Amino acid sequence: MSQRLSRLGPDRSAAGGAIVTCDSPAHIAYIDHAIDFGGAEHSLIELVSRLDRTSFTATILHTEGAKWLHSDQIADVERIAVFPDHPLLQQKRDEVSTGLLRLIPNVCSTVQLSLKLRAALRRTGAQLVHTNSLKTHFIGGLAARLARLPLIWHVRDLLREDEGYHWLRRAAHLLHPHVIAISKVVAEQFAGLATEVTVIPNGIPLDKFCPGPPSPQLRSELGLSADDYVLLIVSRLTPWKGHMTLLEAVAHLADRWRQLKLVVVGEVAFWEAAYEEQLKQQAAELGLTERVIWTGFRSDVPELLRLCDIFVLPSVEEPFGRVIIEAMATGRPVVATESGGVPEIVVDGQTGLLVPPQDAQSLADAIETLLTNRQYAQQMGAAGLSRAHQLFSVDRVAWQVQELYQKILSKGG
Ligand code: UDP
Repeated sequence: MSQRLSRLGPDRSAAGGAIVTCDSPAHIAYIDHAIDFGGAEHSLIELVSRLDRTSFTATILHTEGAKWLHSDQIADVERIAVFPDHPLLQQKRDEVSTGLLRLIPNVCSTVQLSLKLRAALRRTGAQLVHTNSLKTHFIGGLAARLARLPLIWHVRDLLREDEGYHWLRRAAHLLHPHVIAISKVVAEQFAGLATEVTVIPNGIPLDKFCPGPPSPQLRSELGLSADDYVLLIVSRLTPWKGHMTLLEAVAHLADRWRQLKLVVVGEVAFWEAAYEEQLKQQAAELGLTERVIWTGFRSDVPELLRLCDIFVLPSVEEPFGRVIIEAMATGRPVVATESGGVPEIVVDGQTGLLVPPQDAQSLADAIETLLTNRQYAQQMGAAGLSRAHQLFSVDRVAWQVQELYQKILSKGG
C-alpha cells in the first residue's frame, strides 16, 4: 500500500489515489489470547505488519508468554501482556460453554479480565478494538463496550452447538460488533442477527511461496528419495484436521504405490499432547511406519511445500485453511474436503479435488487420480497459483480491513 488511507470517507483524488488528511493516525488495539502460533496469529501478524502507519498505529494486547509475538515482522509494534495465564483462557471450547458450575466462574472471570482490559485500552489511547480470537470476542468485546470504543470481531471459527455457537450469537446481539468473517460459511453463523458482517478472506504473503523444484538437501534430510511420490499435510495435529482419515487413505494406496510417502508437518497443542501418539500408533497399525515422516512444527513451510507432488488437507469442518492457499501459491494441486470454507478456496476439478470429509476411500481415489494423471495435476497446480494471486494476496486483504476501519471510524463507531 503506497498511498495514505483517508479517514474522511470515500472522496478520492483525480489520480485515483486516497486523499491526504492532516489528522493523526488512529490507534487500533488488537486483542488475541493465544499462547501458540496458529493460523489466526499468522494472519494477525501479516495484517498488523502491513498497516499504513501514516493512517493507523497499533498495540497488541496478549497473554503472558505468547510465543507468536516473537515474529520479526511486528518487532516495532507496541505490545502489552494484559492477560495472566488464566484458567479460562486455557479451557477448550466445549468445556467453556457447558454447565452452570463452569458458567458462573467463567462469567465472573470474563468480567474481571474485561475490566483489566478496559484499563489497558484507556492507557493505550485506543480508538478502535479489533479482537482476533474466540475468547477475546467476549472479553475484549465487553471491554470495548465498557470503554465506549468501536468494536471489530475478526471471526475465524466455525462453532458447533456444543462449542458456544449460541453464546457467540447472543454476545453479537448484545455487544454489536462489526464482524469480519474469513469465509462465507463463517459469516453464515450470524444469519438472522442485525450484526454487520463483512467477508474478508485471510491474506497470504504470496511472495514467500513460489513454485519450483524441492531442495535436494531437504529431501535427503527427511529421508525422501528422488523417485518418491510425496503427499504433504501441514496443520496442527488436532482431530478435526483429519489426519486419521489421511492415514487410512494412504493405507488404501500403499500396495499399488510403493514409492508413496506422506510428510506430516505440525505439532499438537499442549492440551492434546496424547493425540500425536495416537496418530503414530494408527500409522504403525496400518503398516505405514516407513512411509510417514513426522516433522513436528517447522518454520520453513514454503520450502516444505515444494517437496510435495500433492498437498492434502482432509479437515472435517475447516473455517478457512491458510495452508491450502500456501500450497496453491507454490503451484501444487490440492486434495481437500468439501467442508466449511474450503470450497470458497479450491475450485473442484480446476485447482484441486474435493471429497466428502471422513471418507478415506474417496480421499484415496482423489489422490490416485492425481498420481496417475500427472499432467492434470500440473494443470491444477498452475490454476491454483493464478487463483491464489487473484484472490488471496495479503496486501489486498490488509487494504480491505483498513478501509473498514476508516468506514467505522468515520461513522464514530
Ligand atoms: N504452520 C507453520 N508451521 C507448522 C504448521 C503450520 O508455520 O509446522 C503455519 C501454516 O503455514 C499456516 C498456519 O500455520 O500459515 C496454519 O493456518 P491454517 O489456517 O491452515 O490452520 P489453523 O491452525 O488456523 O486452523
